[in-house]
Parts: sequence; structure tokens; C-alpha cells
Amino acid sequence: MSAPAGLAGRPAGRARPPIIEHPRALRSRPAAWIGCHGNPDRCLSIGGWHSPICARCIGLLAGYPLAVAALFALGPPDLERALIGALLLVPAALDGGAQALSSYSSTSARRLVTGVLAGVGQLELLGGVTAALLGAVHG
Ligand SMILES: [Zn+2]
Repeated sequence: MSAPAGLAGRPAGRARPPIIEHPRALRSRPAAWIGCHGNPDRCLSIGGWHSPICARCIGLLAGYPLAVAALFALGPPDLERALIGALLLVPAALDGGAQALSSYSSTSARRLVTGVLAGVGQLELLGGVTAALLGAVHG
């Protein structure tokens, strides 16, 4: 019996971060459904339970209702909030980008926090840009 595709060893000099090697066929259904890599190394582990999606995606999903709460608390978004939303994406981009491009390894807590910020940021950016475009089209 051989290892599933993607799990076979690589020469040590050509090793890549595990996230790139986690095969799609081994992802959980929730992970596949939302487009998460579902790499067990990056999923939350609480006691003996392991989350089916990674810590960053849990953070993203937790950030969405916070952005909706901001909508009710602050009113409709505008371009200024869209810019703030774009800035909220930067920590996740840096953390994830550094992992993908170097030997840097983040932590579950850092992935979760940057995911929450990115979740809020995504909706603020989308809402702000949409509101600005609608304002430009309809006056
Ligand atoms: Zn994920």
C-alpha cells in the first residue's frame, strides 16, 4: 500500500510547508465546502476534538457576524470604512504570506485573531466599495 498522492515524501532539500502538501481528498467536507485547506496542523485542537476547518477560517467566519454588528452599530459603510477593511486584511495576508513563502510558522491563536480581523475587513471592504459604487451610479 502506498501513501496517498501528495503525502509521499520529498527529498529533504525540496521540502515545502505542509499546507501545500495536504491533498484535497483528505479535507473534511466543511473544509472543502468553504475552500479551506483543512490541514490538521493548522486546525484548532481543544481536548481531543479537532476543528474541521483551519483556525484562520474559523476566525473569518467569526468575523462576519462582527461586521454585521458593525453595520447596525455604525450604519452603512462608506469608502473610509472600506479602507479600514482593507487594512484589516493586512495581518492575515502577512501571516499567511510569510508561511507560504518562508519557513515561518504561525500559531493557532495568531491565525484565529488575524482571521477575525480579516473577516471583519472583508465585509467592510465589500460593503464600503459597494455603497460607493451604488452612490456613484444612483447619485
Ligand atoms: Zn482554512
